[in-house]
Amino acid sequence: MSQESRESSFAASQATSTTCPQCGAQAVRGRARPGRSIRYRNLGALPLPADVAVPTCVRCRFEYIDPETRARLEPLLHEEYRRILQQRVRQSIDALMRHTSQRKLELLLGLSQGYLSRLRSGAGHPSPELVSHLALLAQDPAKRLAELERYWSEPAAPPPAER
Ligand SMILES: [Zn+2]
Repeated sequence: MSQESRESSFAASQATSTTCPQCGAQAVRGRARPGRSIRYRNLGALPLPADVAVPTCVRCRFEYIDPETRARLEPLLHEEYRRILQQRVRQSIDALMRHTSQRKLELLLGLSQGYLSRLRSGAGHPSPELVSHLALLAQDPAKRLAELERYWSEPAAPPPAER
């Protein structure tokens, strides 16, 4: 990004600063390189595309995502995050399918019929919560599926007695 366009967007904010927050040098430039990742929502390391420029100190090599860069990257990060959720949910469903049927799993989780099949084929976007639950189940499918079946087959507590 050119100096002019940087200044036109957030003139007064620190997003335009070229001062390194780490070493204090006036040496921050936009730099792209492969092998970087950032925390995104509940994901510890979302890979950043190699061609994305990020403020980088050319003296101490410190890299950081300032608010302006974050806003610029958001649509791209969101897409990548959703792709990773799709990929992870497929892995968990595949692992669970070795221990139960898709339909039984849908019933156990209260999901609508065919939903897991859609997710498995890469259609639809699973919530991070569903991906989390399936990941935990897939860690020890036989034991955890049995636990969950027991849990849901327990009789519901009666409504509170009327006085
Ligand atoms: Zn620095």
